[in-house]
Amino acid sequence: MAFCPTVSSYSNGPKPIGERRPHVGRSEEEGVTPALRGLGPPVARTRGDPGTTRVGSWPRPRSTAPDTSRTVSARAPRFARPARRQGARLPGFAVAQAALHHGGTAATDHEWRMTMPAQPAPLESIDIGDIKVTYLPDGDATLSATTVFPASNDALWEAHRELFDADGRLLLTLGGFLIETGDQKVIVDLGFGDLTVPFDAVDGVFRGGKLLSSLRQAGVQPADVDVVFYTHMHLDHVGWTAQNGTLTFPNARHVVGDGEFEFWQGVSDPDLAGVGPNPDAVLAPLLNRIESVSDGATVAPGVNVLASPGHTPGHCSAVVSSGQSRAIILGDVMHCPLQLSDGDLRIIFDVDPDTAARTRDHIAAELEADSATIGADGHFPGSAFGRVVQANGRRWVGLADTVAR
Ligand SMILES: [Zn+2]
Repeated sequence: MAFCPTVSSYSNGPKPIGERRPHVGRSEEEGVTPALRGLGPPVARTRGDPGTTRVGSWPRPRSTAPDTSRTVSARAPRFARPARRQGARLPGFAVAQAALHHGGTAATDHEWRMTMPAQPAPLESIDIGDIKVTYLPDGDATLSATTVFPASNDALWEAHRELFDADGRLLLTLGGFLIETGDQKVIVDLGFGDLTVPFDAVDGVFRGGKLLSSLRQAGVQPADVDVVFYTHMHLDHVGWTAQNGTLTFPNARHVVGDGEFEFWQGVSDPDLAGVGPNPDAVLAPLLNRIESVSDGATVAPGVNVLASPGHTPGHCSAVVSSGQSRAIILGDVMHCPLQLSDGDLRIIFDVDPDTAARTRDHIAAELEADSATIGADGHFPGSAFGRVVQANGRRWVGLADTVAR
């Protein structure tokens, strides 16, 4: 075990997870909700304030932060994009019109400029005070929007073609985040892995493979990574855990929210297991290495755990704070920017949809209320970093669209 004494001595530090527990079947899974931390309305907090609600671990800037969008660094070279159909056009929707109008409401070119069709988020970095956060693309997934969001319809998506690929499928980026804080290097989530998998049930395909080259492009080798923090253990977040049974990041502590690892050990439902971590390739190599962390834990200087349950029982986000700046790496609190303002947009992969919706609304409200806080979502197209603004509902503005290129 490669514990880092500095990190493991923090309060609320990780605790080793024990051996495999008895099987937990579907009935216990359904009983998960009452045990989860409930989410009250957003409450202004200061660091260390135990708070009066159970979402209490927001490390907040000490005062109003400057416009940190100005700190976006020069964009790293983009990866080669997947081949697009030659001359492909979005059916019935002019590209220029889509860029200038949003849901039938006129919006500024500045606000809604998006690449058409949607592109995976690129490798890019932002500075959060003294901490550098870099998005590490691994690949992308394309899905049937109305299948994965059953409450949606074609009319909704027709107004948001900026989220679609050239073939009319919802595009999600796959990847992780590198956090460089002091002499510590943390990776949040490990992408899909070096494989391409069709998911016929959602008329989709998941493609990974670039995470390690993204990491090297950021100047970091796998052996340099001190902490791997999983927001949760769906298969598109654990893909690079191990190769041939050996951990890809051999010197890193591997941490995950309370209960998440045990939950997936106990899953027997084939549909649920099918989107979870592979028992042999992922769970087995982690058995004696994984550590659980609780809400509020510090996993590295300036990197704190924020319990954000619902998508999975132990789902956690990561709050990065330094000086007057703050970012939250959402994990799978949201998969699509439209979820910021539409509570009915629930993805079929949420284990506890009601809890997930409350978590999502709470975090969206927090991002809207504190415009200095950067949101970081590894599934959004275009840019993994952005802000939430109020414009006839909460909307996402990618940082790449707010700074001159
Ligand atoms: Zn995901």
